[in-house]
Amino acid sequence: MWAILVAAGRGERLGLDQPKAFAKLNDEPLLAEPLRRLDDSDWIDAIVIVAPPGWEEPAILLAEELGCAKANACVAGGATRSDSVRAGLAEVPADALVVLVHDAARPLVSDEVIGRVIEPLSDGWDGAVPGLPVSDTLKLVAPDGGVVDTVSREGLYAVQTPQAFRADVFRAAAAAGDATDCAGLVEAAGGRIKLVGGDERLLKVTTSDDLAKIAAWL
Ligand code: C5P
Repeated sequence: MWAILVAAGRGERLGLDQPKAFAKLNDEPLLAEPLRRLDDSDWIDAIVIVAPPGWEEPAILLAEELGCAKANACVAGGATRSDSVRAGLAEVPADALVVLVHDAARPLVSDEVIGRVIEPLSDGWDGAVPGLPVSDTLKLVAPDGGVVDTVSREGLYAVQTPQAFRADVFRAAAAAGDATDCAGLVEAAGGRIKLVGGDERLLKVTTSDDLAKIAAWL
């Protein structure tokens, strides 16, 4: 069971002069929290960190400081999230059975949600993703701001990470293409993905308000 922790985003909306993974969450770089949680999880055997280009060394030092025994490799990410995932996947050995991909920008990953995405793989699913039902009313809006339509939210979910996949299926699906989440790559290749319960606390850090909210939950 290999985890790929993607942390190579620039995080421009945080307005900092360092990448999002090194923004401060309480007194630590944001990357520390998800890294320690994956390292502590009994589900995970090894971790590949995908760091912002030029930040591999600080990421390795951080893993050493935290005593993360499972942090096996650290590589530089690419221009898009899918490129970063491919860079991480290149470090996963051929005999891995399961690949779990997680956004470092969602620091509060738990053992419970990791278990929920891994379990469907033994029931024949190619992958599983956590999600929350959409609660707001959805509108389709034209570029000038005019509302075109109200979209039914029936059956719609907002999807999070961690996402787990059968390693062979994921490797074939991720070889090319781009998607905002990994499951999209597997779906495009005809794979079967199951949605499982997500967690409000898997909020993705986009703005400094998100950082404050997550710091308060810790
Ligand atoms: O950009 P977005 O917020 O969707 O990023 C989600 C996750 O993907 C973050 O943890 C970010 O560090 C990572 N990412 C990456 N490489 C990129 C873009 C995003 O590793 N080129």
